[in-house]
Amino acid sequence: MARYTDSVCRHCRRENLKLFLKGDRCYSDKCAFDRRGYPPGEHGERRGRKISDYGIQLREKQKVKRMYGLSEKQFRLFFEKAERQKGITGTNLLVLLERRLDNVIYRLGFADSRAQGRQYVKHNHFLVNGRKVNIPSFLVRVGDAIEIREKSRKVQAIGNSLDAVVRRGVPQWLDLEKENFKGVVKGFPVREDLTMPIQEQLIVELYSK
Ligand code: SF4
Repeated sequence: MARYTDSVCRHCRRENLKLFLKGDRCYSDKCAFDRRGYPPGEHGERRGRKISDYGIQLREKQKVKRMYGLSEKQFRLFFEKAERQKGITGTNLLVLLERRLDNVIYRLGFADSRAQGRQYVKHNHFLVNGRKVNIPSFLVRVGDAIEIREKSRKVQAIGNSLDAVVRRGVPQWLDLEKENFKGVVKGFPVREDLTMPIQEQLIVELYSK
């Protein structure tokens, strides 16, 4: 799989939205989007370009895909899974993405970003219901308990993230027991829990062509 190695801040500038991909930096005055809020590249500062309906749908898909740090193939698989579920496909998609273990770790404040959450999962720092899980795309279920392994509790970066989570807050569908290095999934998120400006129906329209 091709790996993106350029600065992820370019994604925010491309999508014209802060995607919060770099933890603390996103809240500081070093944020590239705050400093240069125009698309990257040689002609980035040229504005007023007309964008087609297809272009709008494509940008929405790219935005969400980048927000969760997925490849096209991974994102498409999530979409197909959402399509097979009952209910509204767009909402199903967002709920599935939120249920990913790397995202849950980020949401609980154990990591500064989803990318960091993914790295922690891969490095075996977490247990789900007492069992080692090192698959970032693992989907949590209601009642699941996610905890930091005993030997990983001293990792400074995780402690720092936990201190910083106050700024973002923990969503209502998760319960953080900070003193026990643990979080519990109280229920699945509902659409209102996702506060980022996402028009998921545009993604459905794009993939339905
Ligand atoms: Fe985006 Fe964060 Fe980079 Fe700002 S610092 S451009 S919000 S990734």
